[in-house]
Amino acid sequence: MAKPQQGETYKCQTCGMQLEVKSPCQCDSGEPTLTCCSQPLAKE
Ligand SMILES: [Zn+2]
Repeated sequence: MAKPQQGETYKCQTCGMQLEVKSPCQCDSGEPTLTCCSQPLAKE
């Protein structure tokens, strides 16, 4: 998964939950893990 950028929306393909990124990921290594229903969220 690429790092979430500001303004992007992520959606759970199973239950329809949506997450909007209000501030981008700033970590130096690794990346956030966004999951729901045991599946990674898909970028809208
Ligand atoms: Zn879900």
